Amino acid sequence: MAWLSGGCLCGRVRYEADSYGAIVDYCHCDTCRRSTGGATVAWMQVRPDRFRVVSGEAATHASSPEMVRSFCGACGSQLFMTDAKGRSVGVTVGTLDDKTAVAPAAHGWDGDRPSWLCLADGLPRFSADPDYDN
Ligand SMILES: [Zn+2]
Ligand SMILES: [Zn+2]
Repeated sequence: MAWLSGGCLCGRVRYEADSYGAIVDYCHCDTCRRSTGGATVAWMQVRPDRFRVVSGEAATHASSPEMVRSFCGACGSQLFMTDAKGRSVGVTVGTLDDKTAVAPAAHGWDGDRPSWLCLADGLPRFSADPDYDN
């Protein structure tokens, strides 16, 4: 187990997540890009029982019938995403206190990636949802 801590920009919402066995990847989908304002988003997917909010309370937005995104209502940082089936919690790697604790191992939704975003890292690419998410 390797519990990592993280939180939003203003510090109101803090969380902890266990990175052991986590799936870490980029998502280049249009929804992730628009909901964060970033060129791409790196996610760390952990089991729901391996994640906890330890201070503050996150606001939520259902970005699709299946997915709910949680963010700080004060500063707007997107912190995590849950799915209706409760399979995993996706944590935004950019909000971890140690931004080098984990590293993406694949690119999801590469078909939505803007052509100007070039990440020549040799990692596997999936044009939509990665195989391991289905
Ligand atoms: Zn905040
Ligand atoms: Zn996405």
